[in-house]
Amino acid sequence: HELRTPLTVMTGYIEFLQHNADEQLKVPLDKIQQQTVRMNKIITELIDLAKLESAAAVDYTNVIDINALLNDVYNEAVALDRGNHHIELVIENETPDNVLASHLNGSYEELRMAFSNLLTNAIRYTPEGEDIKLFATSHDAGITVGVQDKGVGINYEHIPRLTERFYRVDEGRSREQGGTGLGLAIVKHVLDRHNASLHILSEPGRGSTFCCEFPLSYEEY
Ligand code: ADP
Repeated sequence: HELRTPLTVMTGYIEFLQHNADEQLKVPLDKIQQQTVRMNKIITELIDLAKLESAAAVDYTNVIDINALLNDVYNEAVALDRGNHHIELVIENETPDNVLASHLNGSYEELRMAFSNLLTNAIRYTPEGEDIKLFATSHDAGITVGVQDKGVGINYEHIPRLTERFYRVDEGRSREQGGTGLGLAIVKHVLDRHNASLHILSEPGRGSTFCCEFPLSYEEY
């Protein structure tokens, strides 16, 4: 809040100047406005992280319908993408028992935020027209929820560090794509809180797959 209020005031003045300033000030004012939008995004994500760090443990008695959750994430991303990529949603069950495929336990809002971050990253780091898949697979050891893209990929030496705050492979590209360097740190936190882990497979120039592995909950063994 302390950071957000001055930024909101500044945004108001910038808008005023944009409407009233000389032509020659248009470009610098637009640049200033873009930077305030970026700062706002960083603040929002830092607040999300701080909330995750200080929040009480997630409520495991809360049952989440995977189908509904992934459809939410998918629909929001498709709307944002405006047809730039072929995005598909695939929910599969590799176990004979269908029950496993249908639910996760924990916080709907936190998991929505984590999967949404993975899907928007795929959109941002994948050239237009390529395929992106949001998927959930139920198997003997638990449930995998992930995002696969055919984007720029990541060199193996960066992979262990991707979930660090503000770590970026290519700072210029991240900035250009509206990145903050906080998305995967948020994903990692949410997964830790759900006793789940993140696995990243990637090859430069070919694409990446980010898998969230949810083990079976105690009563399912
Ligand atoms: P950012 O806001 O910069 O995207 P993230 O924490 O979400 O921050 O991701 C960290 C870095 O990981 C990114 O800057 C980018 O270099 C890399 N990255 C994340 N997702 C992908 C992806 N799907 N394809 C290629 N690189 C990715």
